[in-house]
Amino acid sequence: MFSNAIKKLIRTTGFRLVLWYSTIFITSTLLLFTLVYFLLQAAILDKEHDLILTKIEEYGLQDQRGGLAALLDDIRLEENHNSKSGFFVRVADFENKTLLFTLPAGWQIEDIGPLFATGHNSIQGNQFFHKRTRDGEILEIACKRLHNDYLLQVGKGTEERTKLLAHYRKIFAGILLPVILFGLSGGIFLSYRSLRPVRNLISTLRSIDSGKLDSRVPTTQSGDEFDKLTRLFNEMLEKIEQLITGMKESLDNVAHDLRTPVTRLRMDIETALQQDDDPAALREALLDCAEETERIITMLNTLMDISEAETGVMQLNPEKLAVATLISEVIDIYQYVAEDKAITVSRNAPDDLQVVADANRLRQVIANLLDNALKYTPPGGKVSISARADGNQMKLSVADTGCGITDHDLRRIFERLYRADSSRSHRGLGLGLSLVQAVVQSHHGKIEVDSAPNRGSCFTIYWPLESPAPPQAGGGE
Ligand code: ADP
Repeated sequence: MFSNAIKKLIRTTGFRLVLWYSTIFITSTLLLFTLVYFLLQAAILDKEHDLILTKIEEYGLQDQRGGLAALLDDIRLEENHNSKSGFFVRVADFENKTLLFTLPAGWQIEDIGPLFATGHNSIQGNQFFHKRTRDGEILEIACKRLHNDYLLQVGKGTEERTKLLAHYRKIFAGILLPVILFGLSGGIFLSYRSLRPVRNLISTLRSIDSGKLDSRVPTTQSGDEFDKLTRLFNEMLEKIEQLITGMKESLDNVAHDLRTPVTRLRMDIETALQQDDDPAALREALLDCAEETERIITMLNTLMDISEAETGVMQLNPEKLAVATLISEVIDIYQYVAEDKAITVSRNAPDDLQVVADANRLRQVIANLLDNALKYTPPGGKVSISARADGNQMKLSVADTGCGITDHDLRRIFERLYRADSSRSHRGLGLGLSLVQAVVQSHHGKIEVDSAPNRGSCFTIYWPLESPAPPQAGGGE
C-alpha cells in the first residue's frame, strides 16, 4: 500500500520536476563552490610566490650593495620576523656548505634536510620546488645565485594557505545542508507553481465531465505559454459549448415544431385509411401526405443548415463572384412569381462589383430575401435589389413596398421558426431569415432591417468584399 503510493508519487510530473530543479540547483552550487575553492587556492599560491620572489630580490640587492657580510647581517636581523611569518632562508657557499639558515616556526631541520643537499649547480635562475613535510605541509622554495657563486634559498610554508582553505571547506560543509534543503524546497515551490495551470486544467475537465459545461480554466495575465494554452483551451470550450447548445436548441425546436406537421401527417394517413372505397379521395390524402413529408424534410434540412452555419461547421467554398450577375440569376428564378402578382422587381448593381463568397449560399441569401419581399408585398407593389461597395464591404439591400413589420415582430423575426401572426396566411416555415442571418454571419457579415407597418421593409446585408477565411470547425488560433 505504502510502496504503491511511493511508486505513484515517483511517476508524477511534479516529483520529477522537484528532482530536476533540486539536482540542478544543488549540483551547480557545489560546482560553484569547488570552482571558487580552486581559484582561491591558485590566487593564494600566486601571492605566496610573489612574496618569496620579493624577498629573494631584496636579499639579492643587499648582496650587490653591501656584499655577503651585509646580506648575512640583514638575514640575522630579520630571523625572528622571518621565522614567525613562515619564511625559510638559507645561504650556502659554492660547495653547498650552509652559511646561515632560518627555519619557519614549527619546522625541524629534519623536515628541511634534503633541501640542504640541493646542489647549486643544478639551479638555473629562480625556481620553485616543493618539499612535503609532516601534516601535509608544503614549503615553496625559490633559489638565486649570488655573486661568487653563493646560493640563496628563500621559502615559505603553506600553513596560512592550508588554514584559509580549511576554513573555507568548513564554511562549505556548514552551508551544504541548507543548500540541499533550499534546493529541495525551491524545487517543490517551483514545481507547485509551474504545474498550477495543469491542475486548473484537470479540475476544469473534471467539472465539465460532471456536467458543468460552462466551467472555464482560470486565466492569468502572465502571457506565458501556459496562459496562451489556457486561453486557447477556453476558446475551444466556448466553441464546443456553442455547438452543443446550438444542437440542443435545434433538437428542441425540431422536436417542438415537428409535432404539428407530424400530427397533420397522421391525420392525412388516417383520412386515407378511411377512404378505401374511394380511389380519388385516397389519392388526394396520399398527396397531402407527400406534401407534408416534403415540408418536414425542408424544415429539417433548413434547421441543419442554420445549425451548421451558426456553429461554424458549414462547408463553404469561397470564390470571387460578380454580384450583379448573381442578383439577375435570382430575379430570373422569381420572375414568374413576380409577374403573377404584378410586382415590379428592379436591380441596381455595378457590373464590376465582386465579393468573395460561397456562390450557393449568397444566392440562397438573396433568394430568401426576395422570396419574402414578394410574399409580403401586395399585388402591384415594387421590390428593388441594390448592391454597392461600401468601404471594404458590400452593402446589399432588398427593399419592398409591402405590409411592413411591427416593432414587436421586428425584435423576433430572426428567431428560428418565428412567424408574425399576420404572415400565417402565407406559406412559410419561419426559418428563412434565421438561415439568412446565420449564413451572413458565417461570412463575417451582418444583417439589418428597417421596416414599419404599411410602409414596406428594407433588409440590408453587409458582406466583406475580401472575406476572411470562414470559420471552420476545429480551426486554429
Ligand atoms: P417565413 O417567411 O417563412 O415566415 P422568415 O424567417 O423568412 O419566415 O420570416 C420571418 C417573419 O418575418 C415572417 O413570418 C414575416 O412575418 C416577417 N417578414 C420577413 N420578411 C418580410 C418582409 N419583406 N415584409 C414583411 N414581413 C416580413
